[in-house]
Amino acid sequence: VVLRLGHRRARDKRATTHVGLAARALGADRIIITGDKDEALVDSIQRVADRWGGDFKVEFRAKWEPAIDEFKEAGYEIIHLTMYGLPFQTRLAKIRKSTRDKLIIVGGEKVPGEVYQAADYNLSVTSQPHSEIAALAVFLDNFFGGEELEKEFSRARIRVVPQERGKRVLEAGISSA
Ligand code: SAM
Repeated sequence: VVLRLGHRRARDKRATTHVGLAARALGADRIIITGDKDEALVDSIQRVADRWGGDFKVEFRAKWEPAIDEFKEAGYEIIHLTMYGLPFQTRLAKIRKSTRDKLIIVGGEKVPGEVYQAADYNLSVTSQPHSEIAALAVFLDNFFGGEELEKEFSRARIRVVPQERGKRVLEAGISSA
């Protein structure tokens, strides 16, 4: 499960959408968005997810604190991605070995100090500033060891037929070029 903190309705529409779509494409089951309430955004990510198949779920929660508590109580490992954390590659083997479910937290502009305290791991994807989308993508790819690249999305109403050049899409059984 991915927890996206601090969504700002006016500024983060595109970034939060991309966090959601990257999470889905790269093997996560669910995204929880906190911050400004933005039903249109939640609906729009969910619509894309449903159309392209699989069981990915999108939800909004007003507060992040109870969400983290709930996942902790359910036995999840809490992994917060931040450029200030320890290099993720130094903890990856331990995290992959553990069979516990994971809550992966990515932030927005400013992450409250309590998140660092609540996390089991504060991990960086390089100690350089970049983005929640890049950090999540690199972490998920390493966590799943590349296997997520082969993931099948059940009941897809649309899918790409990979081409060396050009575009081919199958939509509800109809092929279009
Ligand atoms: N100062 C912030 C930080 O704590 O990483 C950078 C804010 S950045 C705009 C938004 C989010 O991107 C962060 O909360 C974090 O989840 C992610 N992020 C950015 N750079 C990262 C890095 N090098 N490693 C891991 N996560 C990063």
